[in-house]
Amino acid sequence: MRLILLGAPGSGKGTIAAQLTKEYGVAHISTGDIFRANIKNNTPLGVEAKSYIDQGLLVPDSLTISMLFDRISQADCKSGFMLDGFPRTIFQAEELDKALAKLETKVDVVISIAISDEEIKSRVSSRRVCSSCGAGYNTDFKPTKVAGVCDECGGSVIQRDDDKPETVLSRLQTYYEKTQPLSDYYLQRGLILEASNEVSSKLALEEIRKGLSQRKLV
Ligand code: AMP
Repeated sequence: MRLILLGAPGSGKGTIAAQLTKEYGVAHISTGDIFRANIKNNTPLGVEAKSYIDQGLLVPDSLTISMLFDRISQADCKSGFMLDGFPRTIFQAEELDKALAKLETKVDVVISIAISDEEIKSRVSSRRVCSSCGAGYNTDFKPTKVAGVCDECGGSVIQRDDDKPETVLSRLQTYYEKTQPLSDYYLQRGLILEASNEVSSKLALEEIRKGLSQRKLV
């Protein structure tokens, strides 16, 4: 099963992807996580990507697309994958379609997460992440046991630079300009499965499981 998760920054894609990939045994591919790992390890890709990410801009296609294609050609993607944060532009979607066609496969479903800007701003301001293992927290509804210390690995739990309010506004603007047109792109191809994450990820997950089973994918 090959899935795409579409949604604004802060819409809860990461949480939903982590749960679904565990349930369905497919690889979870987050381009944002791959960039953050490169930034942490100070690789040339990380250094270049950081200058865009810190401004809430998209990393150029020349860096992003080859990185993603390398990742989906790895062995753990043979039985399927969920893309979280890719594609983010029509061009990336077209390139993905071409690359999958060469592999004689295609995207099965595009899960589109619906959520209001107000809810996004409120969630992102309380979102925290472990700088060592990447575990996600939330100061309101999933705090760490000890303030600032990861429950899983003892690493330090921080707010992502790009979750700071001024960067969130610019990420939302980038999203509406560049990424939202993808809804129409995939709607025209009959691939959209919409789920609301306004109330809770539990309800969103239920909607998604139902939609996937109606399509006989699970
Ligand atoms: P995310 O964790 O998915 O919100 O991604 C964090 C940041 O990484 C984004 O704000 C972009 O700057 C960059 N990024 C992630 N995925 C892509 C992509 N497909 N194309 C361009 N930039 C991306």
